[in-house]
Formats: sequence, C-alpha cells, structure tokens
Amino acid sequence: MSHLRFKEVELAFNREPVTVDIPKEAPSEYYGMYVFNRKAMFKYLPKKTFDALTYAIDNKKPLDITVADSVAAGLQKWAMEKGCTHYTHWFHPLTDGTAEKHDSFIEHDGKSGVIEEFSGKLLIQQEPDASSFPNGGIRNTFEARGYSAWDISSPAFIHDNTLCIPTIFISYSGESLDYKTPLLRALNSVDKAATAVAQYFDENVKHVTSNLGWEQEYFLVDEALFAARPDLIMTGRTLMGHESAKNQQLEDHYFGAIPMRVEEFMLDLEIECHKLGIPAKTRHNEVAPNQFELAPIFEESNLANDHNLLLMKVMAQVARRHHFRVLLHEKPFAGINGSGKHNNWSLSTDTGVLLFKPGKTAKENLQFITFMSNVMSTVYKYNGLIKASISSATNAHRLGANEAPPAIISIFMGEQISSILESLVNADKEDRLNVSGKSGLSLNMSQIPQLLLDNTDRNRTSPFAFTGNRFEFRAVGSSANCASAMIAVNSALAEQLMEFKEAVDARVAKGEAVFDAILAENKKLIEESKAIHFDGNGYSEEWKEEAKRRGLDCETSVPLIFDRYLDEKTVNMFQKVGVFTKVELEARNEVKWETYTKKVQIESRCFGDMALNHIIPVATKYQNMLLDNVYKIKSLFPHEKGEKIAAQDMTMIENMAEHMQFIKDKVQEMIEARKVANKIESQREKAIAYHDTVVPYLESIRYHIDKLELMVDDEMWPLPKYRELLFIR
Ligand code: ADP
Ligand code: MG
Repeated sequence: MSHLRFKEVELAFNREPVTVDIPKEAPSEYYGMYVFNRKAMFKYLPKKTFDALTYAIDNKKPLDITVADSVAAGLQKWAMEKGCTHYTHWFHPLTDGTAEKHDSFIEHDGKSGVIEEFSGKLLIQQEPDASSFPNGGIRNTFEARGYSAWDISSPAFIHDNTLCIPTIFISYSGESLDYKTPLLRALNSVDKAATAVAQYFDENVKHVTSNLGWEQEYFLVDEALFAARPDLIMTGRTLMGHESAKNQQLEDHYFGAIPMRVEEFMLDLEIECHKLGIPAKTRHNEVAPNQFELAPIFEESNLANDHNLLLMKVMAQVARRHHFRVLLHEKPFAGINGSGKHNNWSLSTDTGVLLFKPGKTAKENLQFITFMSNVMSTVYKYNGLIKASISSATNAHRLGANEAPPAIISIFMGEQISSILESLVNADKEDRLNVSGKSGLSLNMSQIPQLLLDNTDRNRTSPFAFTGNRFEFRAVGSSANCASAMIAVNSALAEQLMEFKEAVDARVAKGEAVFDAILAENKKLIEESKAIHFDGNGYSEEWKEEAKRRGLDCETSVPLIFDRYLDEKTVNMFQKVGVFTKVELEARNEVKWETYTKKVQIESRCFGDMALNHIIPVATKYQNMLLDNVYKIKSLFPHEKGEKIAAQDMTMIENMAEHMQFIKDKVQEMIEARKVANKIESQREKAIAYHDTVVPYLESIRYHIDKLELMVDDEMWPLPKYRELLFIR
C-alpha cells in the first residue's frame, strides 16, 4: 500500500520556517537596485545620451537612434557590474506569463577570442525565432519572423543574472503578437481622448495617465503535498477532493495572524520586489485558508502591468526557497474562495488631478461627474466586451461561484454619487449649474468632497466598483495578464470620450455655453446608461434575473463570451482608437478559443487518468476488503445474525459499486466527447464543444469521486486531502 501521502504530510507539517536575511539598510537604500532607473542612467550614460533618453521617455517620443549605441554601452556596463552574463528581450506573448530568450554578451573579437559586446541595434530591435508562440494564424511558420522592439517607457532590469529589456512583440507586417503593444496603444488613445476633455476644464493639461494598482491574491501549498497531486502539477487546481470539515466558515483566516513560514516567504518576496523596483506595500491573509494577498502602490498602467508579470514569476521562485508552491489559479479548491486580481484603475492629469476624484469647486466637480458618466456609459455600452476581457477557462470557475462577482458586469457608484447623478438627471433648466461661483450652487456639487470623506460606502459584490477616487475592477482573475482588462477599458473609454467631445463641440458650435453643453451631455449619458448601475447585492439570484431584464450580457459560456470581441461595434471601436485591426482581433480570438480548448483538454485528460489510475484501483481494493469481511462474517455466524452484522458493509459495497460504475462509464463517455470535439476544425466550434460536452463531465464525475473519498479507508487514499493541503502550520 502506498503511504506516500503520509510521508508527504509529515514532511509538510514538520517543516521549519526558512528564515530570511533582512538587509541591514533601509528599503529606500536598496529599492530599485536591479533597475536601470534615472539614477543608474545618470551614472552610466554620457550627459548627452542621458538627456536624449530621458527626453524620449518623458515626451513619449522615439529614442534618437544615434545615441542607441551609447545607451547600450552604459546599460551593458551597469549590468555586468551587477554580475549579468546574459541579456534578453522580455516580452508578453499571448500565453500566460512572459517570454525570454537569453543571449550572452560575448561576440567574436576577430582574434580567435571573444569580447563582451552589446550594441544599440541589439538593444532596440531583435528577431526572436518565435514561430511557436500563439499568433492565431497571423504568421505562417514559413514567414515566422516576429520582431521585438524596446519599450523605453518601462525600464530595463536585472533578474537571474540576466539583463531584461521590456519589449513589444510584433509580426513582420506590424500586427501585434503580444499584450504590451495594444496596451501601449490603448494608453496612448485614452491619453489623447481624456486630455481633450480635461482641457475643457483646464487648458494646461497636456497628458492624462491611466493608473493601475493590482491586488494579487494567491494560495500557498507545501511542495511535498503539491508533488503528490497530479492535478495541481498539471492544471494548477484540484480536480477532485472532498471539502474539509472546517474550511472558511469560521472566517478566522481573513486578516488573521500570518503563519510563520508564510511570513518569512512574504518578507523574502517583498525584499525581492523592492530590489526590482516593484513597490510592494500591503500583505495580508485572505478569506480562504492558505490564501494571501500582495498589493503594491499603484503605478502607471504599463509599468504596473510589467511589475505584476514580473511579480508572478518572482513569487514562484521565492516560494520554492520556502518549500511552497504558489497557486495563481482562480479556483484551486472547490467550495472555498477563489483568487482574483482586483484592478484599481484611475486616470490622472499631468497637472496632478485624479479625474475620478471629487474636487472642491463646482468646476472641478463637473469635471469629476463628466468622467464618471463617461465611464458609466463605457461600461454600459461594452459590458459584454469588458466581461470578455477577463474571461478564461480558469476564471470561469471563480466568477459566479458564491464568493466572486457573477459573470455579469455592472457598476457600483455608492449612495452619495448615485444621488448626485440622480439629482443631475432630474434637475430642470432653471437649476443650471453655476461653475463660475465658488460653491456649486443648485446641484450642491460642492458637497461631494465633504460627503466622500466618510468613505465607508463599499460594495464587495460588485465587479466594477467606484471606491472614492478610482474604480476597482474585481472580476479580473488572479492568473490573468492585467493588460487584457486595461486594454478593453481604456480603449472603450477613449472612444466614448471622443464621442462626448464631438457632441459637446457640436452644441457649442450651435451657440450653447460650454458648461451647459457638458452638463446636457452628462445628463444624456447618465440616463442612457442607467441599466448598468447597480448598487445591490451582486451575488444574489434576483440580480441575475434583474440583469437579464435590463438587457445586460448574461452569457456564461466562455467561448461564446469571446464573440464580443468580434461584434461590429467592438471592431469599429478598436479600429477608431487605433488599438486593434480586425485582423488582429480575429487572430487573437483564434488564440483565445484554442487556449480554452487546450486548458479543458489537459484537465479532462488529467482527470480521466486520476479517476482510472488513482481512484478506481484504491476503491476496488477497499471494496475487496469489505467483501472479504462480509464473506468471513457470513461463514462464521449463523444465517440471520451474519446477515445483520454484515448489513452495513453490504450497503457500503453496493454504494461504492454504483459510484465506481458511474465513474468508469462517464470517463469513457468523456473520452468519446473529446474525440468528437477534436475532429472539429473551427477553433470557435471546438471550444464550444469542449465547453458544452466535456466540461460537464468534470463536475458530474467529481461528485462520485468525492463520495468515494468519504468511504475508502483514509490510510489507503492516495491524494493529499483538502484538510492537509489547506492548513499550513
Ligand atoms: P482594498 O483591499 O481595501 O481594496 P488595498 O490596499 O488592498 O485596498 O489595495 C488598493 C490598491 O489600490 C493598491 O494597489 C493601491 O495602490 C491602489 N490605489 C489606490 N489609489 C489608487 C488610484 N487613485 N488609482 C489606482 N490605484 C489606486
Ligand atoms: Mg480591493
């Protein structure tokens, strides 16, 4: 009998914390030591080069190509002094995570030796042989060229003795093959569109920046237990496992004392983050046992996203040092909370104004209301697309489960903002807002800041919630690349703001005063989009019904949700704001459907193997023991007495037989369903087939396996149980 499980459990439970060497210096001393930041640039670049590079970064201009060699030389010197041997163009292909191909600095010196060399050409552009990254058919393999090009807005950094240069990744014909390219385009378009609107209120505004503060939730599992769960290794989640008697019902984990081993891990991780210039700030336990969160101080969205991707990698490495595995899957365990990555999103001007924050004067508040109503309208018009931007095979397990927002997008405004929006809509002509006066007059706009000081108005059930100076997009999944959500939201808002400006300008051209025109357009937007506004309990069944009545997108099938990317209005929007062409959108959807299929396929295969090779044999053995027992009882005791004594076991044997029969039959059916689906050519149809005909088996079969777990002798059960996986000491 395999007792591997017990060995693993023993190991896990007796593991001592790995203590971390805390640097003697204050974090401000080592913060960013692995980043080629301004300080490093200043030290390692000639003045002229430094000026050219910082000018390009600050003014969002391309780098003057004549200084590229000089930048490369400085960068190389800096990196080599820090022990780097290799460099890489670091990019974000359409898979989970990041990609990198390491090259060493050496070149032939022409005298049979080598020299260390890194040229401007190598810094700025490369042609990785990247034909096997998903591209949705944009690049046929015979012309597999893809280019990676330096994104100067995100600084180079050192990780694992390698100089990492953040780059975009595009095809020979210019289509984006990554997340970063469209993200930069979206940020650029929202900058332009929001600046134009902000200039109604302040002519000095030259740029608007999109900010992102993500909150990364994750689970930790001891590595020994992890290794004994093929499903965790293959899919990142437990495909089976009965819930433990105690899970999160006592609510004793949330914000509770952090276990020692975990605390050491967190400390180690934070030090790594700070060295890499990731402003990790907050850490705490989450709701579920063994669930935790890390949140940084928010940053400009592109940089914030680079930092999140880097963090996910660093986390995995640091966890290993502490004999943990990090689970970034959205739903590693059934029956308890899943993990999200709330995206706190805001816009700010280069004059220092947060555009989603109420101001002090009526004019500032009109600006605030203007951006609020434009966001509301954006989320209303594109609620299906916004949902598509966070949908995936893995996040599907989390959304709509009882502790996460449902697969319906709505917006939460809070009582105060709601009542202001309402009074704005109901105000009649005489109630005109006097924006020149000090106080907001008739609409009481000036009261907003005072009211908001008491910012306890929080709704944790909303997928898209206003939280005082930002929106918290909570439906984003823990393993996601935030770029997807940020591209959708910023692009759609850019289009909305462009339309808003056109409408206001048209009114002004007809002789209306600017602020009257703005007010009138705000009213229109708020009225038109009120169906998206929902402050109630997003987890309730009634809301699902209500959302349907309101005409919101209630689709739950992920492959069908992806269709929203190809709606005519979506394609037009992305083209208008210059973020995606139709070809890019179509290619990306091919990748999305294919990825969906593959993830479900892997789960289904792994599940079938575990059911047939782990569970059934063990259950059969145990059943045999029972049979043996019954047989012996009946042969020892007289007829009636024997029957009585063996009755319980007989029932158990029968029940087990039923469960096992079900499992064996249904695994065969599931395999057949996969075979049928695999023959389908179209990626979309194949993904739909996997969703409709394969996924349901995973749930229905699991039920019977989990029942067997309760029947079979604990000593024989091969897989670490939930109670073992979830409670670290
Ligand atoms: P909570 O869990 O209460 O929502 P956290 O402190 O865990 O709050 O996370 C809040 C996140 O929001 C942090 O990353 C923080 O930096 C970020 N944040 C705060 N203000 C803004 C803002 N104006 N724009 C974007 N992100 C913000
Ligand atoms: Mg939050």
